Amino acid sequence: MIKRQKRPKETTKEIILKGIPAAPGITIGKAYPLYDEEMVIPRKKIEKKHVESEIVRFKKALAKTRAEILTIHKTISKEMGVEKARIFGAHLMVLEDEVLISEVIAKLKRDKLTVEYIFLEVLRKYTKILSKSDDEYLRERVSDINDVGKRILKNLLGAQHRSLEDLKKKTIVVAYDLSPSDTAMMHRGNVIAFATDIGGRTSHTAIMAKSLEIPAVVGLESVTSNVEDGSTVIVDGNRGAVIVNPSKSTITRYERDKKRFEKFEKHLLKLKNLPAKTLDGKEVKLAANIELPDDVHSVLAHGAVGVGLYRTEYIYMNRKDLPTEQEQYEAYKWVVKKISPDSVTIRTLDLGGDKFLSQFEVAHEMNPFLGWRAIRFCLARPDIFKTQLRAILRASKHGKLRIMYPMISGIEELRQANAILEDVKKELKKKSIPFDKDIEIGAMIEVPSAAVTSDVLAKEADFFSIGTNDLIQYALAVDRVNEKIAYLYEPAHPAVLRLIKTIIDNAHREKIWVGMCGEMAGDIALALILLGLGLDEFSVSPIMIPEVKRVIRAAKYTDAKKFAEEALSLSTGSEVEILAKMKLKELLPDAAIKITEG
Ligand code: PEP
Ligand code: MG
Repeated sequence: MIKRQKRPKETTKEIILKGIPAAPGITIGKAYPLYDEEMVIPRKKIEKKHVESEIVRFKKALAKTRAEILTIHKTISKEMGVEKARIFGAHLMVLEDEVLISEVIAKLKRDKLTVEYIFLEVLRKYTKILSKSDDEYLRERVSDINDVGKRILKNLLGAQHRSLEDLKKKTIVVAYDLSPSDTAMMHRGNVIAFATDIGGRTSHTAIMAKSLEIPAVVGLESVTSNVEDGSTVIVDGNRGAVIVNPSKSTITRYERDKKRFEKFEKHLLKLKNLPAKTLDGKEVKLAANIELPDDVHSVLAHGAVGVGLYRTEYIYMNRKDLPTEQEQYEAYKWVVKKISPDSVTIRTLDLGGDKFLSQFEVAHEMNPFLGWRAIRFCLARPDIFKTQLRAILRASKHGKLRIMYPMISGIEELRQANAILEDVKKELKKKSIPFDKDIEIGAMIEVPSAAVTSDVLAKEADFFSIGTNDLIQYALAVDRVNEKIAYLYEPAHPAVLRLIKTIIDNAHREKIWVGMCGEMAGDIALALILLGLGLDEFSVSPIMIPEVKRVIRAAKYTDAKKFAEEALSLSTGSEVEILAKMKLKELLPDAAIKITEG
């Protein structure tokens, strides 16, 4: 549940913000800011005549907060005892603190800024002083002040609980952050773009934006403090920019760019039924990644050859219970039948990292991407894992399905997962429930230890799929969702290229095929290198299919091999990237890269 923020109207100056492009396209529309505890409150002047109404607003918010706390106090006392409710007594004391209240009012009269801005300033000053105090009692009051402060702020901002699903108008969502489950709730028709303060290019929120086919920019740092409710905003998902309060001439320029981009995309769709084959006859498989069953429409519309990654965790999100075996079976069956005769690779539940499920009380971890996630979680919860495996196996009789395990770090995990799968197969056989007995089992290679020991893994897997989103973050020690270090997140880094080469060579030595389903597979500048390294399958967001196909069809495999060798001899990611972009421009002077650059 996200809360919407209501703020006074002001400033119409054009502001250009640079961020990280998360999903392509250009949208011009009205902003819909969402309130979040982390959100920055903009510093806004008010006129002298509005000081009194700001004080009234403050007092109303205090009264509302008091009523809320009294209700909670009463309920908790009744249900859990007076002792447990004591904390709310402390909250009431903060709320009635005359010193704090008069300081806010005095500052408001003196500085003439919005009351939420002043209140937050005073609150921060108090918590800073108290947290440095030698007195333990006073230090413990910091969390009370913060809790009450957030409540008051929420009431001041007029925050209402709203679900993103319920948006009635077409809007551009602006938020400090959006979780993948928030993004999954966005109604296709009504959220026409989004922009966030934090986040990285391969965060699941960004990936979801591609699958929703809406432009998105993340990691803008200050978009929430620059946007008003209803401000006109341009989201340029190609360049990674957001323009707030654009001038008439900027709007005209962007409308032209938007048309040009859409025409270009439409033109690319002409490739839909053509194979992803190089000029000298090397054909690769160009499949699509999906998050929701509904995405299959886009897979078919963009001419993908099957699904190379079905991220099943979205079936588990935004609900209070776990999906049943039957429910999962129906979803997988629907997807496999729609995609048939092409194949669908179902990835088993990849919970954790930046994807959390409300049904599980998973303890907060310091490093969630290194924690209890994906196959680690499934091996610890065979009940949940088996339910999913049963559903996949049952669906396998309706077409060509494959199973792939996420985050395998070594052969033991692969064996353990396969042992559970064997148990499930036995159970089904016993009950005479049909399934594909020859179903292929693959390992995602996204942990460096798996990449380095891929020679061992290749002996016991039917295929590999390289998950570069995670592989890059683990190999380069760069959190994939942190915008501050996004400059270090380099798919073209020599360490990444060498790991990819190791994986592909080890797989081919054991005669198994290798796909790539991380975002790197959709990076058209790097496609030639991946082709030259011998990648057998590219699996990308459906909207990226035509562009990747165009590059492959324009290239010669013999040249790609030479280029891959050259790229491997370079010492930095930037050198590789510069060369890759140059090659791409030589190959396709009008590649989308031209449109997406400055
Ligand atoms: C990856 O890590 O590259 C991948 C495809 O999986 P996810 O993005 O879901 O972690
Ligand atoms: Mg991954």
